[in-house]
Amino acid sequence: MLEERYPIVKDLREEKELVWINPDRTEDPAALEGFGLSMADIDDAEARMARFAPFIMACFPETQASGGIIESVLTPVPGLQARLNEKYGSGIQGRLLLKQDSHLAIAGSVKARGGIYEVLKHTEELALEHGLLSGYEDDYTKLATPEARAFFTQFTVQVGSTGNLGLSIGIMSAAVGYEVIVHMSADAKQWKKELLRQHGVTVMEYESDYSEAVKQGRASSDANPKSYFVDDENSKNLFMGYAVAAKRLVSQLEEQKVTVDAAHPLFVYIPCGVGGAPGGVAFGLRQVFGTNVHTFFVEPTQAPCMVLGMATGLQNEISVQDIGLTGLTHADGLAVGRASGFVGRVMVPILSGEFTLRDAKLYDYMRDLLESEEIFIEPSACAAFQGPVMLNQYPETRAYLEQHGLTDKMSQASHILWATGGRLVPESIREDYVNTYL
Ligand SMILES: *Cc1c(COP(=O)(O)O)cnc(C)c1O
Repeated sequence: MLEERYPIVKDLREEKELVWINPDRTEDPAALEGFGLSMADIDDAEARMARFAPFIMACFPETQASGGIIESVLTPVPGLQARLNEKYGSGIQGRLLLKQDSHLAIAGSVKARGGIYEVLKHTEELALEHGLLSGYEDDYTKLATPEARAFFTQFTVQVGSTGNLGLSIGIMSAAVGYEVIVHMSADAKQWKKELLRQHGVTVMEYESDYSEAVKQGRASSDANPKSYFVDDENSKNLFMGYAVAAKRLVSQLEEQKVTVDAAHPLFVYIPCGVGGAPGGVAFGLRQVFGTNVHTFFVEPTQAPCMVLGMATGLQNEISVQDIGLTGLTHADGLAVGRASGFVGRVMVPILSGEFTLRDAKLYDYMRDLLESEEIFIEPSACAAFQGPVMLNQYPETRAYLEQHGLTDKMSQASHILWATGGRLVPESIREDYVNTYL
């Protein structure tokens, strides 16, 4: 029945690589209202990160060069562009750039944005409530003193994670002084668990998938009045932490002399798991660039939870297991069977569409980047490459370009691959990845 109504469900069930164009994306700004999220919230989040910058610098010397601001570089990748065009017949016109959240300070993934932001927001609330800070103008390095740390040890922070969110929340929470418990799903990598334990984090391991780890984490946190649970599926704080990226991208694009307007469209491709990270970034991009930005998510064929939820309108009421998929994928962080309903609903007027890809391609794309640009990012982050590789090759995306009057503007377009993770991957695992052929 579902398949009759939504033919895409059959293609998803059969693990076909595909593109889905969102029929509900709209130019109408009124459609963005009603979620309790606005540009003012992004400004508020950015200001909070600025207040914490001296504290971050004090805890993480690696952030000194950037003044305690956690931000990644935007790198032109013409070598990769030539490689993709030559090898896959992609015909990518305009400029291809790599947004290296893979190399973000502290957590080495996009999760450094949302995860760290949420931990700091909670910390600010506790500090103000208990008089550790007198107000927003106070000196936040006070929070890095042994006395402050001793205060925070009475509180616990918990999170359910497939890996990278756990690293981000775990490392930052441990730096503040909290007791931290990270509830890990079965697919989480051993090295991530070990790294967290080195930071003094308690890692709980489950045989089950991500949704179950989240459930266990929430139950454990609810049982302790001094525990705070970071809810990856529903957190507006995480979402806003991710959205800040868009504001900062404006000056980075200016530095690269990249114009974004009606004659110079911007395409952004982001790997999607539960949806918080790509959703927050996409929301911010829409606020900043209006409809001149065209954002596409990319998911593995075995875990296309967001496209399944959005295309059927069922959002988080359907899982990939419901249509016979395993939800298992080599793409760490994208092995999510059920998308965030909150994010899916916010994306309805914003998202341009979604691509899916097979796991084997993750490794091919990873080698393409490494060989052409000498940049390493983790395989899941390479899911983004499917977007520009296929943009000119699917009839659906060609029709999208045509409908939006973009076909003759593509030589002035820019394409951003959002590289979501990689810096913390140990050398031996990198070698394994480089030698993996599926
Ligand atoms: C978490 C993650 C994503 C996707 O973020 P979601 O919020 O789960 O959608 C993408 N890439 C990497 C490397 C990640 O760790």
